[in-house]
Amino acid sequence: MATTTLTPTAQLTKDEVLRYSRHLIMPEVGMEGQLRLKQARVLCVGAGGLGSPLALYLAAAGVGRLGIVDFDVVDFTNLQRQVIHGTGDVGRSKLQSARETIQDINPHVEVDLYETRLTSDNALDIFREYDIIADGTDNFATRYLVNDACVLLGKPNVYGSIFRFEGQASVFYAKEGPCYRCLYPEPPPPGLVPSCAEGGVLGVLPGIIGCIQALETLKLILGKGAPLIGRLLLFDALQMQFRELKLRKNPECPVCGEHPTIHELIDYEEFCGIRGGEPMQQPAGVPEITPTELKKMMDEHRRFVLIDVREPHEYEICRIPGSTLIPLGEIAKRMNELNSADEIVVHCRSGMRSAKAVQILMQAGFRKIHNLKGGILAWSDEIDPSVPKY
Ligand SMILES: [Zn+2]
Repeated sequence: MATTTLTPTAQLTKDEVLRYSRHLIMPEVGMEGQLRLKQARVLCVGAGGLGSPLALYLAAAGVGRLGIVDFDVVDFTNLQRQVIHGTGDVGRSKLQSARETIQDINPHVEVDLYETRLTSDNALDIFREYDIIADGTDNFATRYLVNDACVLLGKPNVYGSIFRFEGQASVFYAKEGPCYRCLYPEPPPPGLVPSCAEGGVLGVLPGIIGCIQALETLKLILGKGAPLIGRLLLFDALQMQFRELKLRKNPECPVCGEHPTIHELIDYEEFCGIRGGEPMQQPAGVPEITPTELKKMMDEHRRFVLIDVREPHEYEICRIPGSTLIPLGEIAKRMNELNSADEIVVHCRSGMRSAKAVQILMQAGFRKIHNLKGGILAWSDEIDPSVPKY
């Protein structure tokens, strides 16, 4: 599959010949392949864990034009895996930081920055400028948006995703194989699949999956080898095992099937049951208190029980004084340890899991119960900055 067309006048400078010499001496790349790379236009969606190795290796290999979409700033918690950014970049825009690193690695690369959230309003206009889209996003709404925009524009979508010790990669190209929707017709229920921020991710894992995405992108540009079209690669880092699933195009697929019902981009947050990044139905009906109100209850020596529903290893990192640990998964079977006559405050890291715990306890008849809004993170921000954030 040739995604770039060569203009006859294209050529490499003397500097470029030297820089790419290890490519030029391989018959599978050679001068023609290197010129294809130089004329290729690739968009990286996200400059995070997957986007870092993607952009670094595509730039180093000589992809001529690299677009990056991101709206975030570099945070200390990013540095454990987002290797395109350094400690001195914390607080800076991820895009500015990424561009500086890329230009240091290869000044011949043209870098386009899109400092914006990718939405149904801007995705088609941005994608149109590129031959290949590499998806390094970390949420389902954007993943479906990237997929649908690629199908509608007939462009290949080089997909990767990661969680804890496991990763996936594929190439979704509806002209030649299935799309992401053929594989996952429906998003998971909101809140069911934790994000990397909630569940964690091993530092090297995005490097491995992002490098596979970079490699697949180069193969598509060069038109060499067997791309991951119609194949889902599964990687288990703990067992150090790769597995592969054959994927088939779903003739009923609403976007790439025989009778598609999706002809334009939709509201993906609504499709995924979320609003503003948070599940829509949550925390409806869950009584909340703020960290300031909790502090006041403590200062007034009010009688109440503080339950921490995080995991034991999170409790080891930090805790609110006086809290009792009952992980969310044990709430149902350990609620006999609680007295429904007591006033109860439940907290977790950010307030999501504890809202679920409050719902479970309310269904069991607990009434004097509150969720700590924003969890221990908000407690650290508003009450006790000595509590480490993670
Ligand atoms: Zn499809």
